[in-house]
Amino acid sequence: MKADAYGHGAVRVAEVLRPVADMFAVATVEEGMELREAGIRKPILILFSCVPAQVGPIVEFNLTPSIGDWEFAKALNEIASEATPTKIHVNINTGMNRSGICWTEALQFLSKLKNLPRLEVEGIFTHLATADEVDKSFVSVQLKRFSSVLSDNDGKMVHVANSAATLAVPESHFDAVRPGLSLYGIYPATEKPILLKPALTWKTRIGWISTISEGEGVSYGLTYKAPYPIRVAMMQIGYGDGYPRALSVTGEVLIGGMHRPIIGRVCMDVSVVQLEPADKVAIGDEVVLIGKQGDAEITIDEVAQRAGTIPYEILTQIGTRVKRTFRPVSYNNEH
Ligand SMILES: *Cc1c(COP(=O)(O)O)cnc(C)c1O
Repeated sequence: MKADAYGHGAVRVAEVLRPVADMFAVATVEEGMELREAGIRKPILILFSCVPAQVGPIVEFNLTPSIGDWEFAKALNEIASEATPTKIHVNINTGMNRSGICWTEALQFLSKLKNLPRLEVEGIFTHLATADEVDKSFVSVQLKRFSSVLSDNDGKMVHVANSAATLAVPESHFDAVRPGLSLYGIYPATEKPILLKPALTWKTRIGWISTISEGEGVSYGLTYKAPYPIRVAMMQIGYGDGYPRALSVTGEVLIGGMHRPIIGRVCMDVSVVQLEPADKVAIGDEVVLIGKQGDAEITIDEVAQRAGTIPYEILTQIGTRVKRTFRPVSYNNEH
């Protein structure tokens, strides 16, 4: 559910997934608090190390922190309750090298944790650095390092797999998986062993239509010049909404079921597209930025590629100004 459920809206997504998820995961204490305040009672794992100053809300909101260092564990133990120990998951660094206890020191660390009676090690996990790559050799290295830590595992919940590993590395599944991107119907890698359908469509509206003369420029810097008289439309979306400014030259949108190019620079609040003379378009018409319109589709992979980034970044940048509306999920198989 981190980063507002990859831009989809964490509270609503958590409500939808509540019946099927045993546990939720977020990146920060604040994200966990938001779900608690919305009435989500499932266990909530915080994926990244917290600092000692955050132990208060962790205990108060009954969040499950990842433990990646001794100082934090000690601070948490000091304020945790004796009657109901705080559950923790120990994060093992097996090669991602951004958080966790080094795998070579993990067994020693786990036994040292037994001296902290108000903490209960519920889970143990690691994170894979290259599961979305075709070459899975470093995945094997990480799994091997991780398995050396599991030698005397006494019933702890073991989890490793992100979306890519959930889809493509069965031996990484253990007791639980931590899919992020794939929950939203997007493939993390080129392997597509199951059918995913994107949950999100991103739309806006036409706000203004005009015809400009040959030689006139469009938008800041007048970087686009009309080679002949053209019809243009302004759409109500800009980088202030998280629509990448990098699409200024390369972007495309769907209007009336047709692909139409963005011309000139994407502004903070609006952008301009070129219409064809015969397009039947009116102010207020729908524009699809990501998703389907009629028979046409623009995938998030295309948008990310044109913007020089990855779907994760496109989704998590969709701004608060963009209104989220939710439709019930239909599980009927269309394929
Ligand atoms: C973000 C994250 C995931 C989910 O990653 P996806 O590629 O979106 O599936 C899983 N585990 C950890 C530790 C993460 O930070």
